[in-house]
Amino acid sequence: MLFNDLRKGLSVTLKYLFTHAVTCQYPTQRLNVPERGRWLHALNLHEESQKIKCIDCGLCEEVCPSKCIEIIPTENKDHTKSPAIYNIDLGRCCFCGLCVEVCPELAISMSDKYELAGYDREKFIFTKEDLIKVGLEYNNNKLQKKEGEL
Ligand code: SF4
Ligand code: SF4
Repeated sequence: MLFNDLRKGLSVTLKYLFTHAVTCQYPTQRLNVPERGRWLHALNLHEESQKIKCIDCGLCEEVCPSKCIEIIPTENKDHTKSPAIYNIDLGRCCFCGLCVEVCPELAISMSDKYELAGYDREKFIFTKEDLIKVGLEYNNNKLQKKEGEL
């Protein structure tokens, strides 16, 4: 009986010994995440003017099922609107992606930043400045990757 169990166990071990590893040596090694994955949000800027794309239509705030987006608008000199404050509370976010889908300006997207653990609830609130920084980093990395492929 014991020998049978041992044999079964060893056969499973041997079967997987010569296959490719599906795990990696995190954090020294990181897996490439799928481009359509839902990770930390990013706010995008217009390429030329470097102004925020968000026109403060409020759709993302409205559609968010977790009510974790807070926008306080401001009117610019040219009478366009943009957010003075744009906060996302990731502690409440369910990563449904509806905010990204609904945005008419492609102002919000999701980056590949997935290391979001923390001890302090306050740290899960990402401000406009944080999200713009994430967007800049993410879009720069994407551009560099594309150039590397050419
Ligand atoms: S991913 Fe979903 S839950 Fe998270 S902020 Fe966007 S709409 Fe809200
Ligand atoms: S849906 Fe887009 S443009 Fe409208 S408030 Fe949200 S991020 Fe800004």
